[in-house]
Amino acid sequence: MEELKKLIRDVPDFPQKGIIFKDITTLIKVKDGFRRSIDLLKEQVKDISFEKFVAIESRGYIFGAALAYVLNKGLVIVRKPGKLPAETIKEEYSLEYGTNTIEMHKDAINNGEKVIIIDDLLATGGTALATAKLVERLGGKVEGILFLIELDFLRGREKLEGYDIYSIIHY
Ligand code: AMP
Repeated sequence: MEELKKLIRDVPDFPQKGIIFKDITTLIKVKDGFRRSIDLLKEQVKDISFEKFVAIESRGYIFGAALAYVLNKGLVIVRKPGKLPAETIKEEYSLEYGTNTIEMHKDAINNGEKVIIIDDLLATGGTALATAKLVERLGGKVEGILFLIELDFLRGREKLEGYDIYSIIHY
């Protein structure tokens, strides 16, 4: 865990002043860093019964794709507006820096289907909460929300009260 933490780069004042951006590109470019991250994430959810990962754009895709492959699950992608080609549903949410809207294909999740949401990092929890709402609007059931990194001091976990939150590396 400490070895992984050492591979994550702090970039001060990105994308705006006052934010310390946790850069995972320095972790995933190292083969053992990437493999170990996937192994640890897999351990967190391997005993949960679910059908699909729902991955958040864009760093969530890196971990979501590898996990869906190793755990033999489907993969749904949540995207920024205007990127998905077919009919979508949308949610607006606030970020640690600014606001945003995310979209999911209307037919991405079947009624009653169980999913795990995946992203690289939990900050305020706004993105994950908006994603959970999209899943639930389609009749899906959120069995857990999985992150590689959690910024504990932003209390995203409190915003996501009622959901099972799993994370590996804490700041
Ligand atoms: P939030 O909705 O506040 O939990 O923000 C989470 C989303 O924004 C994730 O997709 C993160 O990748 C990104 N994010 C927010 N804050 C940071 C940060 N300090 N370092 C890296 N990514 C961040």
